[in-house]
Amino acid sequence: MATGEAEETRVSAAMPARWLRIAARAMVDYALPPRCPGCGTIVGADRQFCLGCWSSLHFLDGPACLHCSIPLPTAIVGQPMSCGACLANPPPFEGAPAAVAYGPVARTVALRFKYGRRTGHARLMAQLMARRLAALGDTGQMVLVAVPLHRWRLWSRGFNQAALVADALSRLTGVPHDHHLLLRTRATASLRGKGRRERERIVGGAFALAPGAKARVAARHLVLIDDVHASGATLRAAARVLRRGGAARVSALTWARVVPDALMTGNIFDFASLDSDMS
Ligand SMILES: [Zn+2]
Ligand SMILES: [Zn+2]
Repeated sequence: MATGEAEETRVSAAMPARWLRIAARAMVDYALPPRCPGCGTIVGADRQFCLGCWSSLHFLDGPACLHCSIPLPTAIVGQPMSCGACLANPPPFEGAPAAVAYGPVARTVALRFKYGRRTGHARLMAQLMARRLAALGDTGQMVLVAVPLHRWRLWSRGFNQAALVADALSRLTGVPHDHHLLLRTRATASLRGKGRRERERIVGGAFALAPGAKARVAARHLVLIDDVHASGATLRAAARVLRRGGAARVSALTWARVVPDALMTGNIFDFASLDSDMS
């Protein structure tokens, strides 16, 4: 009993201290000037890039592969064209636009968000992703589906970055976000540096439709939301499950698309060598 009372006293003494710390932190954050999410320079408003970072962002709105959004320098804007990789191995999603190409600033934003817990970056990313969402078709038929994390990773990180972006996008556009449609049934190893077949083997079977979700999938246009689109193996595995579940259409929208350097600089590239095998 005495131990219990002592414990209770410690807890009740700790609570105000904890709340004071949180309140003090909020006041400091409020008092500090807003900083560029790319480089930390002081800027005029929240969620605003400095001129240098803004001008270094590569917005992916030029001619691109109809399916995976790899820029196609030889294509014409408005004319649907597929890249060699998608022709050889068509993805189960119909379109996969991204706000920006994965470069130093896009990478910093994504990493500070995911590992630096700058959860406010979700709104910044969503703002730049919103107009790409409208380009995917009638938003009235859409449901946003964040690529889920396995519960162990969710537990260790404390949040799913894709779900926070989908929430922010939902608030901005009015398109609903369904948190309970797709499950990650297996924790998967990193895909970095792995070949296409190896990546497909790693993520294959990592997703499943949630029990009872079939009715919510039927005849809807589901838009997978993730932070980075690299090889596309994860998006393919998730999209396959949604397609099998009866979705009328599946597409994907990400913050940043990994694009080979040769495409960014407009150099001539070999279609045959352009696989989605980007590390
Ligand atoms: Zn900057
Ligand atoms: Zn493609």
